Amino acid sequence: MKIYISADIEGCAGMAAPSEANPEHSDIRYFQEQMTLEVNAACEGALAAGATEIYVKDAHWTGRNINPRRLPKQVRIIRGWTGHPFSMMAELDRTFSGAVFIGYHDRAGSGGNPLAHTFSGRVVSEMRINGVPVSEFHVNTFIASSVSVPVLFLSGDQKLCDTAKRFHETLEVVPTMTGIGAATVSIHPDLAIDSIRAGVQRACAGDIKRIPLPSASAYAIEIDFKQPEGAYRSSFYPGVKQVSDTTLAYTSKDFFDIATMIHYCVR
Ligand SMILES: [Zn+2]
Repeated sequence: MKIYISADIEGCAGMAAPSEANPEHSDIRYFQEQMTLEVNAACEGALAAGATEIYVKDAHWTGRNINPRRLPKQVRIIRGWTGHPFSMMAELDRTFSGAVFIGYHDRAGSGGNPLAHTFSGRVVSEMRINGVPVSEFHVNTFIASSVSVPVLFLSGDQKLCDTAKRFHETLEVVPTMTGIGAATVSIHPDLAIDSIRAGVQRACAGDIKRIPLPSASAYAIEIDFKQPEGAYRSSFYPGVKQVSDTTLAYTSKDFFDIATMIHYCVR
């Protein structure tokens, strides 16, 4: 069993402020350690359930937050950004049995996490696919489905976990915190770690083949930009329609095209 783990930081236990997610600020160090420990717990859970290979994508900001030495020896870690449109899911392919998401956060425009954003807090005010507002987790589940990899587990803020459960009833989740205004109410960091280890083990030991792969016959994406100049610049991407000063629309039957459009238009 080969497991893919995509890890962000804004949904790790205790996170509350922008400086705590910023690699140029010393506030991030404690949270890089918490992210490392939460990812390590996910690896331990997967190994206990029989995983033989694990890839970890460090998917926050520089892509260089996790301390690789603290992870089990079976792990390969992807640090930095390959430039592939799969982005936070780089190197994912059909050889993986399942995908695990650690430290994820709710979407731009949500009150569920003071650090909520979708790919770029500077650029995107809301992103919708087939009319539904989507988070990074949601987009990445479509990427996983596009290569037939089921989504097994999610940890992150409570609102993201609640929304995710509506789309994936079978998903194992560990809510680490609840966002209230510019604050968070978080569980203890060690309880988050223990719950993630147990939850990932349960998820990987379950009947993975029965997990549905979310997909649609066509994907219509709309991106609301914060600034009109961002929307104008990206409106020249082939196939994109500009539907208002700040909104772009694009449609494809192939989710790879949608991932590629996001990759080039949100920057
Ligand atoms: Zn992040």
